[in-house]
Amino acid sequence: MNTVTSPTGRKTASSQIQSRVRDIQEATRGVTAQYPRSYILQCIKEDRFPEELWQALGKFGLLGLSIPEEYGGSGGGVLEITALNEALALAGVPTLFLVVTGLARVPIVRNGTREQIARYVTPTCTGEKKMCFAITEPNAGTNSFAMTTLATPNAGGGWTLNGQKVFISGARDADTMMVVARTTKASEVKHRTDGMSLFVIDMKTPGITLKQLNIQVETAERQYMVFFDNVQLPADAVIGEPGKGAKLMFEGLNSERLLAAGAALGLGDYALAKGVAYAKDRKPFGKPIGSYQALQHRMALAKAELEAARLMTYDAADRFDNGEDAGAHANMAKLLASRAAVAAVEAALQTHGGYGFDRDYDVVTLWPMIRLLEIAPINNEMLLNYIGEHVLGLPKSY
Ligand SMILES: Cc1cc2nc3c(=O)[nH]c(=O)nc-3n(C[C@H](O)[C@H](O)[C@H](O)COP(=O)(O)OP(=O)(O)OC[C@H]3O[C@@H](n4cnc5c(N)ncnc54)[C@H](O)[C@@H]3O)c2cc1C
Repeated sequence: MNTVTSPTGRKTASSQIQSRVRDIQEATRGVTAQYPRSYILQCIKEDRFPEELWQALGKFGLLGLSIPEEYGGSGGGVLEITALNEALALAGVPTLFLVVTGLARVPIVRNGTREQIARYVTPTCTGEKKMCFAITEPNAGTNSFAMTTLATPNAGGGWTLNGQKVFISGARDADTMMVVARTTKASEVKHRTDGMSLFVIDMKTPGITLKQLNIQVETAERQYMVFFDNVQLPADAVIGEPGKGAKLMFEGLNSERLLAAGAALGLGDYALAKGVAYAKDRKPFGKPIGSYQALQHRMALAKAELEAARLMTYDAADRFDNGEDAGAHANMAKLLASRAAVAAVEAALQTHGGYGFDRDYDVVTLWPMIRLLEIAPINNEMLLNYIGEHVLGLPKSY
């Protein structure tokens, strides 16, 4: 078997990883052939969730990836769901929802009770229910520990939730929302990671209101401001131990980084393929512009960077699934994949010249979504901070 030994001495069966990725990509192609990019663009135009695509993914067991079969899932791990996200993006049908659902489910499966898993996770495997994820707040931004959304115990043994979240993808379309909130104010805890808790909330609970934001990213999921006004939650809305949610949240965030990396890889290759096709055809000086090295090398470099990031991404996913500490690798993978994808779409845009800016060529339309992946779900500066501090051992700057 073809094995790769990483600098840390870890042996990875790379052929096994590749074949797992290929299986998912093949299965996904069966669905995206039926629901191609033109379908997604139509959903965006009509401002509606791509429900038919979502149901088809559920029907073929793809939404159940990473969830154990005993909970109604299709098995596999983060590697499989990352491959699914890449395959969807590769067909030009990226969905932010898969990232948010994928992230939200991790802490429930790892730390929830059997009943919580059956109620909240199992129905997401078939596409029957959708879950969004809410951590970002207007004032806290990247510094999640500074969040002020607060859940306090109520008289009935449950919780009362007050506060506000921002940029929440798919809040309108979700049935439930995973909310990260404080159960002890930041000013009252010893360590900033203390006093945070995870709650799963039914979106129909009284006291929740949404306001749609005007975000310029071509995806079918819109972003919302979410307000919680004395929202009453039952005691079992908490996942894991109250006040200890930060650790659970980070378990989910590492897998989210890999899902984002998968999306970046697929979108990067999708954009690059458009650039390559155009470069073979366009001949303003008689020869195809793809023969000019200023363009050719730019596309070749982007391809090499995408492939390097791909190796890193699936290596990190494999580590995560093997229960190893995958934090550094997941952060590096998302950093490299998002940068490679931006290089790819920039090359495709340059190759298309003025036509790149014609919406009908669908190149400039890819740019915001790809560029976003350098900023969300986490900005690359925070990933560099992590590598600087935790991998290189440099002092913290903030
Ligand atoms: C389309 C879209 C979808 C989203 N979906 C969701 C969702 O579903 N759920 C959710 O909870 N959130 C979601 N977000 C929010 C997203 O995760 C945040 O926008 C992102 O984490 C950055 O937070 P911020 O916008 O407040 O930036 P800020 O925290 O204000 O940071 C601004 C910039 O400052 C720099 N910076 C900040 N801190 C540091 C630091 N310590 N060191 C170095 N540089 C730094 C970075 O360059 C950063 O981009 C979404 C955002 C968008 C645009």
